[in-house]
Amino acid sequence: MPAVSELFGEVAAAVRANADELTELDRAIGDGDHGLNLRRGFDAVAGLGPELDAMPVGKALQKAGMTLVMKIGGASGPLYGSLLMGIGKALPETPALPDFADALQAGVDAVRQRGKSEAGDKTMLDVLAPVCEALRDGVARSLPASRLLDDVAAAAGLGLESTRALVARKGRASFLGERSAGHLDPGARSSQLIVETVCTRLRGGP
Ligand SMILES: [Mg+2]
Repeated sequence: MPAVSELFGEVAAAVRANADELTELDRAIGDGDHGLNLRRGFDAVAGLGPELDAMPVGKALQKAGMTLVMKIGGASGPLYGSLLMGIGKALPETPALPDFADALQAGVDAVRQRGKSEAGDKTMLDVLAPVCEALRDGVARSLPASRLLDDVAAAAGLGLESTRALVARKGRASFLGERSAGHLDPGARSSQLIVETVCTRLRGGP
């Protein structure tokens, strides 16, 4: 396992590299601040650096989640914060792979509650829910790590694509009604980007 600070460093770099795209997606059906917001938040988390590695991974994820809540305005701070804090709280001090699957479920449930939304509403949950399902399924079937990571990344990609046809039922995009269809959801895209970045890094070995 790479260090938590290294993973967040890679996530922050991916968000930075794709911030303009996130902003464009949000401009189409929201208010156009998603790229800037996420960039500010994940840069702050990456800036915590070795402080994150000095604590158990669960505590580090909670710290990262709190940092996102403090640094990101709008809806995405509390939602991504709930995800990371939910995962972090559910992890035992020295987690094994099945613990991560259970903890991700807890994190996704926290996002559901915070956003009062479900998969199908054209939100980040359209990526996170199938990702969680793929992880739990792969763990239950004892898939080899590389296959498991491929499946999880593929689930994220399919989930993201599914948002294009959906009409938004939550968030600012829902004000557009039917006109929100035909666009990818920016929160789903940032979630897919983060999942893909983590999977790629984990697939690459230590
Ligand atoms: Mg926005």
